[in-house]
Order: sequence, then structure tokens, then C-alpha cells
Amino acid sequence: MSNRRKRLLPYASPFVMLIRKAISLGASEALLISTDILSIQDEIIEMCRAPKCEGFGQCANCPPHVMGPAEARKWIKNFSEALLVKQDLPPSDLFGPNEMERFQRMFTLVTSLEKIARNRGFEQATGLGAGSCKPVFCPEDVCSVLQGKACRLPHLARPSLEALGINVFELAKSVGWPMNKILRETDPRTVSSAALIGMVLLC
Ligand code: SF4
Repeated sequence: MSNRRKRLLPYASPFVMLIRKAISLGASEALLISTDILSIQDEIIEMCRAPKCEGFGQCANCPPHVMGPAEARKWIKNFSEALLVKQDLPPSDLFGPNEMERFQRMFTLVTSLEKIARNRGFEQATGLGAGSCKPVFCPEDVCSVLQGKACRLPHLARPSLEALGINVFELAKSVGWPMNKILRETDPRTVSSAALIGMVLLC
């Protein structure tokens, strides 16, 4: 058995239920992984810096306000498994008027799965989305958490994998979901496919 397959956990209920739920709620693919394979890298945070991402410094769920990589490495040890979900999409959707809707769908998916997992005994289940919640949910407003108030959408807003320093491209490749790297300057006509990755940490 390959090392990669050894690191993928055997499918057993209630994990099967969570995978099926993920697909029924709109994931293109879903699988269970051991959190041992998550690599948190300091340099990933550099990719969040403005102007690469408009959420940097603007939101409680983004660097430098969200926990840093060192803290994230310790925190993630609280979870032994994670449900990884992928949503395939046309590359043009990441550049057009549907862009934020696509990210919103991922926040909705992971928080729905988080709620289901908590109800099924994973009491500390925690979703991680894709991208920053700021342009998705509060494009015109200052982040209320950074003003000392409650989040406007606590049931939907979560940090992204990359905001915690998780190398999403390496992770996706390691589970057999290779992804095209799409940056702001990428011409969507030059890439054949695109995807967003989310996760629900389980314990
Ligand atoms: S949803 Fe809005 S208020 Fe909540 S953390 Fe994100 S930017 Fe801040």
C-alpha cells in the first residue's frame, strides 16, 4: 500500500455519512484525511499579503489577526481527522461577477457540514473556508470583530485553510486532486479547470 493511501483513513460510519452529506450539499468531491498530513507553512501567509488578497489585515479571520502558523500547528493537534471538500468550477467564475458567490458557497458548505458533524458527536468540529470572509460578506463595511463587536455572520464566517498557513495546492495534490494555480494575473482562458478547497476539522 502506498504511503498516501496509508494516510487516508478507512471510510467508516459516521465518516461515510459526512462524505455523503458533503456531496449532497454541493461538494464535487469529499474525503476523510488524517490531520497528520496537514503542512502549515509560514511562507503561505506571505501570499495573503496585500495586494495579493484584499482580506489581509482587514478581517478577524485573516492574517495577521487570525492565529499565526505556530499557534495553528499546536491548535490543529486537537483534531485527528478532517473532512476535505472540493468544489470544481469554471476558471472564468474566479474572475467574473460570480466570484464572491463561489466563495460564499464554500463558506456555506463547510459551516453546514460543521453543524452536522457537531450534531453527530464531533462536538468541536470546525470548518475552514476558501478565501477571505471580508469581500464575501462585508465588502462595504469595516470588520465588526476588529471594532470589538461580534461578527456579523458568525454562522458563516470562518478562516480559510491558507489563512492558517496550510499549503492548499500541496494538500490537494497529496490526496489526488491536482489543482491549477490561479492568481489575479492569470488569464482564465489559459487554465482548463479550477476548484476551491474547504475543510471541516473533526474531534
Ligand atoms: S464576516 Fe465580516 S464581521 Fe465577520 S469576521 Fe468576516 S469581515 Fe469580520
